[in-house]
Amino acid sequence: MKIDIIGGGISGLSLAYMLLAKANNHTINLYESDEKVGGKIWTERSEGFVTEAGVNGFLDNRPATLTLSKELNLQPIRSNDNARKRFICLDGKLKEIPEKPLSFMFSDFLSISGRINMVLEYFRPPNVKEDESMESFAVRRVGREFFEKLLDPMASGVYAGDPAKLSIRSCFAKVYELEKNYGGLIKGFLNIAKEKKKLGQKTEAGPGGTLHSFDRGMYSLIEVLRQILGERVFTNKKAVSVEKKSESYIVNFDDGSMSESDVLILAVPAHNASILLKDLDKGLSDYLNQIQYPPLTVVSLGFKNRDFSGIDLNAFGFLVPARESRKILGTLFDTSIFPNRAPEGYTLLRTMVGGARFKEFALLEEDKLREVVLSELRDLISLRADPHYVRIFRWQKAIPQYNVGHHLLLENIDRLLTQHKGLFLTGNAYRGVAVNDCIANSEKLASQIIRDF
Ligand SMILES: Cc1cc2nc3c(=O)[nH]c(=O)nc-3n(C[C@H](O)[C@H](O)[C@H](O)COP(=O)(O)OP(=O)(O)OC[C@H]3O[C@@H](n4cnc5c(N)ncnc54)[C@H](O)[C@@H]3O)c2cc1C
Repeated sequence: MKIDIIGGGISGLSLAYMLLAKANNHTINLYESDEKVGGKIWTERSEGFVTEAGVNGFLDNRPATLTLSKELNLQPIRSNDNARKRFICLDGKLKEIPEKPLSFMFSDFLSISGRINMVLEYFRPPNVKEDESMESFAVRRVGREFFEKLLDPMASGVYAGDPAKLSIRSCFAKVYELEKNYGGLIKGFLNIAKEKKKLGQKTEAGPGGTLHSFDRGMYSLIEVLRQILGERVFTNKKAVSVEKKSESYIVNFDDGSMSESDVLILAVPAHNASILLKDLDKGLSDYLNQIQYPPLTVVSLGFKNRDFSGIDLNAFGFLVPARESRKILGTLFDTSIFPNRAPEGYTLLRTMVGGARFKEFALLEEDKLREVVLSELRDLISLRADPHYVRIFRWQKAIPQYNVGHHLLLENIDRLLTQHKGLFLTGNAYRGVAVNDCIANSEKLASQIIRDF
């Protein structure tokens, strides 16, 4: 059987690897439009800095990436313990988020009425909707202050999204299910903690999981997969259209060549899949085009350590809620999170700009962008110096937005796909935006293909 995969991000690469591992009697080819594979995973290693253009790491609360790393003989590194300390920008100052629920309740992170509102969540009756925006769900359950100070910046941190549009059901399914299954969030947490205690397991207070990466950055994972797949990977090969020929698929490339396969997997962003399928299935193409990808720009700045005298950067970083009306979404203190991110004596900071609500800032010219970020950092962490190292990574279409109704969109996409035997879609546009999701979905899809074809 001949299998073609279009798209060489982690979804396409891990799928090719897993197909190969499960059955090596098939011909598997992967085509990537860029000159290198990896997609949103790219680590730039220059001047002694190791800086992530996109993906920063993966959490260990799900096994997919850890398991794959082990199979590939890669040694993941755990983020430093001090990276558990996180800040939120409130009224123009960085405020530490108390880690434990009890210390949170006794801190002044929320006003007294905000804390009372939060506790009252326990008594609020469930009102489960088929879907709802993250903002409407959070304000209804825990109050506006908790939403604005904590959950709104989280929506920026994970999706660079707009919580008034993001779907609670598709983006934070576990939280949605707490209300559905237990009648409320606090009730749900308490029940789960009880169940875990019975099984002798520990309960995490926060979103759970510790961030991991690799000594030389996330691209290490891509390099190993690329090496294993060898001649099966073709770069600088942009697919432009897909046709069906009785039982097989034909992919046409921008250099005039084509490839015919029995099974075709599009592991490209939904907007690219939409273009590829325009002639084959207009309805499917239209649904795919509804998944939005706002722009996001990563600004990495390297400073001398002495530029920070008197400033404590021994933490993960900070996020900025929308109500602060600032021009950045947040900054990660990269050198405090993982070792070897900067040469001896230097500090690396990575700031995110743009996203669904602040698109215009992501698109600023380079000089302007650098000035905007520096002026925010000067204000928020009293930084006075100019950077010695500057790298700007632009993602015109960054993270797919699972907006309200995303589950219905998926139902429609799946329904139309059943009419195209042997055609599959995978990638972070559908069922989870994280690297862990992409790899777990590749594992499932590889098993399904091997079983059914
Ligand atoms: C700035 C940023 C930071 C992120 N940080 C994290 C993080 O810390 N942790 C985390 O878990 N997730 C993070 N993510 C999410 C991350 O993007 C995904 O988890 C994952 O990398 C997506 O992989 P993918 O293979 O599905 O898609 P992509 O990485 O987008 O790969 C798709 C590939 O398809 C190729 N392609 C597109 N069209 C064609 C065509 N016509 N022909 C051939 N090839 C084509 C593209 O060039 C690309 O290489 C981040 C995303 C961004 C943008």
